[in-house]
Amino acid sequence: MLEKEKHMIGMAWRFIKAMLRYQWAKQRGYETLAPAVAQAFRNYECDQCMYNDEGQCALCDCLILAKTMMAQESCPDGRWSRVWIKRKSKTNR
Ligand code: SF4
Repeated sequence: MLEKEKHMIGMAWRFIKAMLRYQWAKQRGYETLAPAVAQAFRNYECDQCMYNDEGQCALCDCLILAKTMMAQESCPDGRWSRVWIKRKSKTNR
């Protein structure tokens, strides 16, 4: 198999896993959007990172802006992690 095809399959697989994680979290009542402070920290880390290739992570091929917004995403280099926060129920507001 050509390197380019392997790369594309890897990207597609990581995207599918991210979407499944998103759905899993949403159905179980977790916030799927990272808190603003977490997004700011993640974007700061990505801005400094050597794997930031003009807004795309060279390790996972994700678009950094989208990745840092999604609560259940994590940095493949261990610089920031997933955020698990339960959504407030409407009866508690
Ligand atoms: S997700 Fe992690 S490895 Fe990728 S650019 Fe951001 S800090 Fe770097």
